[in-house]
Amino acid sequence: IFPYYHIPLFPKITLLTSVPNNMYNKPMAIVYLSLGSNIGDRVGYIQQATSLLSSNPNINIVATSSFYETEPWLMSTDNWFVNAVVQISTTLAPEELLKECQRIECQLGRPTNRTGEYSDRTIDIDIIFYDNVIMNNDILTIPHKYFHKRGFMLVPMLEIAEDFVHPFFGKT
Ligand code: ADP
Ligand code: MG
Repeated sequence: IFPYYHIPLFPKITLLTSVPNNMYNKPMAIVYLSLGSNIGDRVGYIQQATSLLSSNPNINIVATSSFYETEPWLMSTDNWFVNAVVQISTTLAPEELLKECQRIECQLGRPTNRTGEYSDRTIDIDIIFYDNVIMNNDILTIPHKYFHKRGFMLVPMLEIAEDFVHPFFGKT
């Protein structure tokens, strides 16, 4: 009846393709990043930051929001921002991801800020959420401490994460 009845049911099977790097077997975190720029080619900087993120073998871009023009907040500048939120999946730990974001900020010409004050920037990349991780140390506060107060993070994120639940406010 069936022409292939003579094929053994459980033939040996070997994986031939070599798996790049470490993308498999390592847990993948879902992360939301806020991107903002308020000098120069603002849209271009956000696009470049997104493409630099995706060129990291440990980062995949899952979704990108629309771009929004937003008024500067708690900053003495007249330069409005362009903001967007991207959803990524990554095998990088939160601290490693922060380092990578800072490396990209430098690469796109953002001077390191030593005064602690908000200043004009070619690009700012902030981690809004990292899975359901809640952490607060010298270098990282996750969820981002101002997320719930900043329309420029909330509105674009709504677009790509309708059902997302905030890890400690517990609201969608
Ligand atoms: P801001 O983003 O507030 O305008 P910076 O980009 O200069 O200022 O970041 C200042 C510091 O904020 C960074 O050195 C980083 O260690 C710290 N930081 C704390 N939490 C976060 C976070 N969730 N995402 C990005 N940076 C953070
Ligand atoms: Mg920042």
